[in-house]
Amino acid sequence: MKFNSYLNKIKEYVAGKPIEQIARDYQLNTKDIIKLGSNENPYGPSPKVIQTLKQNSNSVHMYPDDSFYELKSVLAKKFDVNENEIIFGCGSDQIIELAVRAKAKIGDNVLTAGLTFAMYKIAAQSVGANLIKTDSLIHNLDELYTKYKKDNPSVIFLCLPNNPIGDCLDTDEVYSFLEKIDSETLVFVDGAYQEFASYKDKKKHIDIKDLINRFDNVVYSGTFSKLYGLGGMRIGYGISKSKNLKALYKLRPPFNVASLSISAALSALEDEDYINEYLKHNLDQMKRYEDFIVSKGYSFVDSYTNFIQLEFKEDINSSVLASELMKRGIIIRDMSSYGINGIRITIGTSLQNDIVLKNLDELL
Ligand SMILES: *Cc1c(COP(=O)(O)O)cnc(C)c1O
Repeated sequence: MKFNSYLNKIKEYVAGKPIEQIARDYQLNTKDIIKLGSNENPYGPSPKVIQTLKQNSNSVHMYPDDSFYELKSVLAKKFDVNENEIIFGCGSDQIIELAVRAKAKIGDNVLTAGLTFAMYKIAAQSVGANLIKTDSLIHNLDELYTKYKKDNPSVIFLCLPNNPIGDCLDTDEVYSFLEKIDSETLVFVDGAYQEFASYKDKKKHIDIKDLINRFDNVVYSGTFSKLYGLGGMRIGYGISKSKNLKALYKLRPPFNVASLSISAALSALEDEDYINEYLKHNLDQMKRYEDFIVSKGYSFVDSYTNFIQLEFKEDINSSVLASELMKRGIIIRDMSSYGINGIRITIGTSLQNDIVLKNLDELL
């Protein structure tokens, strides 16, 4: 049986390996494994979220509230936008997919930075669109603009801050870029790590209300998977002018977010102290990696996220290093498949970072 020919181009997304698999492959105890490969909040969600999940588990036989009434009103208040300017997804991955399906057709171009989040490409290719990248790995707005002029993409992705590198454009620069983009081109601003960037540097902060009010053609996405520690609950959101979201709503499957995920998100938003503590911890602990790598004579990319890219010289091979760490039960991301001799590490708990730094010290 033949399937859509444009699926031939798609390389299946390879997710970070789960702890159980590493334990089997390397004969390790699951509890000894340190998983810092997927940018999860290493402390998990607020304890209040766990409480809420227990309390609400008795209603799982019922479909969720498909209007997302409560969560929508809480988020609308938080971002000072209208409720009809919000859509929820099974992870923000689903918002990416809905936006691309709503806008890009077979043969269209979709434009991204040279190295960015893998789902943009998959989403584009799954509708038969072509993915076009800049030569620069990080977001280079001049290059993006040149490609935009030349290739007339129907969708442009900006990942602010960018996964997997951790860099982030200043919001001022992004706005100047957006001013030059035609209103018929959808610009997708992926803010999966935006809270980390805002916390570190006000110049990177995106005021979502201002963004969508100034730019009719922008869809912004955020997630509960990273800062809020709810990767396993699969809930994210899109924010845009309601006339844009009407198109996305047409493609959204009903009940696309589980009821417990909605409860978890609501509860996570309430515990601001917990989140602020994690943001502070993340920056403090990141500094340890920065100091360490510099002391070893290597470098790092200034990161506006909860992970950091460490870069080596020829004396170190990042894939050898990554597999050495793996044998010791430490899961990080090797960057060699992207042509970078480096590794990406999610900032862990203080204890996890102690262990990772000790092992890196031995191996480098
Ligand atoms: C993790 C991540 C997402 C998707 O997260 P969901 O779990 O689907 O909400 C989106 N964009 C970037 C850049 C990410 O790193």
